[in-house]
Amino acid sequence: MKIDVLGVRFDNLSRREAALRGAELLAEEGFHYAVTPNPEFLLAAEKDPDFRSVLNEADLVLPDGVGVLYASRILGTPLRERVPGIDFAADMLALLNERGGRLYLLGAKPGVAEEAGRRLTERYPHISLCGTGDGYFTDGGAAAAQVAAARPDLLFVCLGAPKQELWMARWGESTGARLAIGLGGALDVFSGQVERAPERWQKLGLEWAYRLVKEPKRIGRMARLPLVLAKAALARVGL
Ligand code: UDP
Repeated sequence: MKIDVLGVRFDNLSRREAALRGAELLAEEGFHYAVTPNPEFLLAAEKDPDFRSVLNEADLVLPDGVGVLYASRILGTPLRERVPGIDFAADMLALLNERGGRLYLLGAKPGVAEEAGRRLTERYPHISLCGTGDGYFTDGGAAAAQVAAARPDLLFVCLGAPKQELWMARWGESTGARLAIGLGGALDVFSGQVERAPERWQKLGLEWAYRLVKEPKRIGRMARLPLVLAKAALARVGL
């Protein structure tokens, strides 16, 4: 069942159910893509119908962070739990490791995807890292052709939103991958460049606060969270 939060329709799944669905998508013929919208996405999607369609046409739409969850509660149609993109990515890596599949990492500054790949293959030794590419290309088709040549099963697309979603919708199919996931800054985390909040903060739903303390310049971006909640409140009372 889908739950609409300000025009974006989310899959109402637990982390475990999302992983099971991801496993099915990886096993099915054809290309699939997953998106992990946070509150910033919701505001961008309101203004940009193309971006909104690309989000709504994804095979899996997962709520990245507590902001989307709060908005869904205010709207009176609560999502069950947050499924951060990076957790879903970790579950897909564990699965690929079990099956011995091929992984391509696309995005972030030059060198970051390579370092992330080095660390991930240390942790998941049965994954075959079939290629990496930085996220500062100008020709989306050429980047897709490079991915296709590497024949991945699983593809992480970490270009920031909406670039990564638009790229997946336009070029994903031509990569031949089974599952692509738009993951924002995940390669910065997997490469060790950015530290994720400790588990205690994550469990309390305070990952955003940790990130803000570590990178205070994100305050401008994060200020959009209360705006999303206010918009949800307006929608709830019918304004
Ligand atoms: N990025 C990229 N190509 C671009 C713009 C951004 O590869 O043209 C990368 C950037 O280096 C970073 C990621 O995309 O690794 C976006 O990070 P952000 O912090 O915006 O993601 P979040 O996790 O907050 O969604």
